[in-house]
Amino acid sequence: MPTVWVLGAGQLGAMLKQAAYPLAINVEPVEPESEQLPNIIDGDTVTVEREQWPDTPVTRHMSQQRGFMNADIFGKIADRFHQKTMLDTLGINTAPWRSVEVNTKAESLHAELGPDVLLKRREGGYDGKGQYWLYEDQGDEVPTDWLGTGIAEKKIPFNEELSLVGARDKDGNKVFYPLTLNLHSNGILMASISPLSRVAHLQPMAESMLGKIMDSANYIGVMAMECFRVGEQLIVNELAPRVHNSGHWTQAGACVSQFEMHLRAVCDLPIKAPEVRGQSVMINIIGVEREIAWLKIPSTQCYWYGKDVRPGRKLGHININHPQKSAVQTALNELRKLLPENYQDVFNWVEKELK
Ligand code: ATP
Ligand code: MG
Ligand code: MG
Repeated sequence: MPTVWVLGAGQLGAMLKQAAYPLAINVEPVEPESEQLPNIIDGDTVTVEREQWPDTPVTRHMSQQRGFMNADIFGKIADRFHQKTMLDTLGINTAPWRSVEVNTKAESLHAELGPDVLLKRREGGYDGKGQYWLYEDQGDEVPTDWLGTGIAEKKIPFNEELSLVGARDKDGNKVFYPLTLNLHSNGILMASISPLSRVAHLQPMAESMLGKIMDSANYIGVMAMECFRVGEQLIVNELAPRVHNSGHWTQAGACVSQFEMHLRAVCDLPIKAPEVRGQSVMINIIGVEREIAWLKIPSTQCYWYGKDVRPGRKLGHININHPQKSAVQTALNELRKLLPENYQDVFNWVEKELK
């Protein structure tokens, strides 16, 4: 049985392992800090569940393997400076930006990017960590620890956030899931809805953008593109060269999940356009203790990652799927009673979309 080694051993690696079973592929997530080097042999594949990793004996070993997929892409995507440069070079719409150099002044950023500017760390940010708002009307200066370590982005007055998850195989064939509508709160994904007919007309544009990005990198596997919708325009926020939280609904709502699709692509098995079943909603479980009663709700799949509970931490997700929106809404009503007060806005948002 071939082995796919995954750099990183979080929930994405675990869900890749789960998806590998019907393909009889052995998936082995590897913790970067682990003492023991993985025993990778000729013919094995190495993939990642994260675009960035610490320099350790394990990560050095894994990234030097012949079977390490997409080796060149991570440097281009994991550093926002290079990612934004790549998008500009490809002529793909992205939020206007500037590099924050050691001598960059807030004044010049505001002159070029407007009164509200979002600083983002070049590397390592996730779930909105590694961001800092710079407001002209508050006279903010660039904090010294941001000098030389970040980029600055124009604030995009977006209507909403959409993402596209796609996959590409080694022959350049590409498949895409329908656009997903995402709700973030304080930079962290709270909920996703897909499919959504009112955004279907944006699908061809989104596919051609992500297709161009994957082709230009000769990319193999699943990639996610996070976008802002501004009117009829899509503006790329960021890329993730891996399976993505906004694609978790595909576990319940597509004939091939994003996890299986990624494995198919990196193992040179056929990828196919995923038939989408019914209506899907995904609710992220953030900083909340597990509740056994979640398991009783009809039309749901519950994923609990087994991590220590901490405020603001992604601990699990619940997929709700049914052919009828009304049944999805019934499940949401049940779940609403079992999640804390701060989720009310999330459920209200989903309810409005499903009407
Ligand atoms: P992720 O967990 O998705 O990797 P991240 O920490 O890498 O998150 P971003 O995706 O860049 O961060 O930003 C997080 C959220 O912050 C976005 O989903 C969006 O809601 C908001 N945001 C980011 N950039 C901008 C912008 N230029 N203008 C307005 N809002 C923004
Ligand atoms: Mg990110
Ligand atoms: Mg993001």
